[in-house]
Amino acid sequence: MKTVDCDYFVVGSGMAGLMSALHLASYGKVLLVTKMGLKDCNTNFAQGGICCVMDPKDTFDKHARDTMIAGAWLGNSPVVHEICEHAPEAIRDLVECGVKFAKSPDGSWDLTREGGHSARRILHAGDITGEKCEAAMIRRLKKSGVEVRERTILIDLVMTRRIGIKGENRCVGAYVLDRDSGEIYAVRSPNTILATGGCGKVYLYTCNPDVATGDGIALAWRAGAKIENMEFIQFHPTCLYHPQARRFLISEAVRGEGAELVDRHGRAFMKKYDPRGSLAPRDIVARSIDSEMKRTGDDCMYLDIRKKGRVYLMKRFPNIYRKCLEFGIDMATDLIPVVPAAHYTCGGIKATTDGRTSIPGLSAVGECACTGLHGANRLASNSLMEALVCARLAAARLGPHPDTFAKGAAPEIPAWKTGAAVPPDEAVLVSHMWDEIRRLMWDYVGIVRTNKRLARAARRLKTLRREIRDYYFRYLVTPDTLELRNIAVCAELIVRSAQKRRESRGLHYTLDYPRMSKRPKQTVLDGFKG
Ligand SMILES: Cc1cc2nc3c(=O)[nH]c(=O)nc-3n(C[C@H](O)[C@H](O)[C@H](O)COP(=O)(O)OP(=O)(O)OC[C@H]3O[C@@H](n4cnc5c(N)ncnc54)[C@H](O)[C@@H]3O)c2cc1C
Repeated sequence: MKTVDCDYFVVGSGMAGLMSALHLASYGKVLLVTKMGLKDCNTNFAQGGICCVMDPKDTFDKHARDTMIAGAWLGNSPVVHEICEHAPEAIRDLVECGVKFAKSPDGSWDLTREGGHSARRILHAGDITGEKCEAAMIRRLKKSGVEVRERTILIDLVMTRRIGIKGENRCVGAYVLDRDSGEIYAVRSPNTILATGGCGKVYLYTCNPDVATGDGIALAWRAGAKIENMEFIQFHPTCLYHPQARRFLISEAVRGEGAELVDRHGRAFMKKYDPRGSLAPRDIVARSIDSEMKRTGDDCMYLDIRKKGRVYLMKRFPNIYRKCLEFGIDMATDLIPVVPAAHYTCGGIKATTDGRTSIPGLSAVGECACTGLHGANRLASNSLMEALVCARLAAARLGPHPDTFAKGAAPEIPAWKTGAAVPPDEAVLVSHMWDEIRRLMWDYVGIVRTNKRLARAARRLKTLRREIRDYYFRYLVTPDTLELRNIAVCAELIVRSAQKRRESRGLHYTLDYPRMSKRPKQTVLDGFKG
């Protein structure tokens, strides 16, 4: 088995991974791997923008306060302030990469405002901010000297204790699988940086791309890292419900302009749940749609904005109008089918703002990490900011003071053992287990939870994890089995965290404990001790 050496091993090519690699490039040899193409990541789909205090009338304190309120006071206040305050310099990094954020006619930044923000502080590049950032960073990456390996998927971290080295248990790299050749090899590095994103794919409905299977979270947990606040999964209330329209969000502005949420008979139902009707906040709308779907057994609910007429709709929502039409839905004459969809993972690998995890040699940045910024709910457009700032801070820590191997000797990484494994011959088993996990998470561990549903999910997941383990060791690894194993771990971490929280707070809402407790507490799960 070959072993590839580098000073910094970055996993993931979204905002967090690309920025970490770009900053570290001047300090040593950087290898970046990503499991599909460079652009296959959540970052590329971000529409709204990136938060940053830029307006002289706005302040860091206001931004921090808005973040704490959105997070139901579970955020870590010093962390929140630190990240908000570092945002302007991190935004400059993007501008230097060539991102052209929208400007007003007078040359100042064209800042927009989203729900929960008390000021205009969102920088955007049209409604394709993520795509523009991703393209600019990739252009810069190509000139940076960073070695990039696409279609390369991380299998597991290599820990010193597991390879028989005594002393402190450290991460010294990872085993990876080349999707095209099927070759498995080791990457050896004293500094591994996980920037692997969230785990939206754990749920049946998600606006996340296929790569969002929580790999980094699952393999950090398997390596023994502490995991925090996994019960807080943010659902976007209105994702277009159509088999070919995965990931297309119907913006909240459509409700802002008068769309009503209705059932399949066209009956408005939101007033039953909140006096503000269809204009209630995101989490309430998501919960109400979920409740109506469960009550009626229907697959989706609908947005009705027909009263506004074609001319207005085409002018006000050209992109949404066009996209809906592509799927045979004319907003001027048809109801728009929508479902809530898993959108953002607030919890993750417990990490400091500069990426330090509970495992020496292992850092985590971006959506896979839990720094304490989001608390129990993410404030809109704070996630790209966090990825950007934490990548910068992690590089500032690791660049000048990298971890090095003890006594300068690189550990020998044993060859990947396949044992008696044979090529898989029943892919249907894998796809069935995938579907089962995603459906049970949607039905039992979704937007509204109860003790009974969580217990049922925990029992079924325990059996599934055993079946997956058997399958994993019996057959040669494939990307599908790796991802299946990882979504099963993330699902279990979400359930266990939800069971530990005996209150309703932010995104975790349970009928058994509907009140918020007076003392906010983080949910920390210890890593696997196998
Ligand atoms: C539709 C949508 C709209 C959004 N809009 C906004 C917005 O307007 N503003 C905002 O702030 N946030 C927004 N978000 C959230 C934001 O996009 C993400 O939180 C952010 O992009 C996360 O960046 P990241 O670098 O941590 O992860 P990602 O961008 O998801 O990148 C993760 C990377 O890791 C790779 N990877 C994963 N597992 C492995 C493995 N095993 N081996 C190798 N590589 C691996 C993936 O392929 C990918 O390249 C939105 C998200 C979605 C889905």
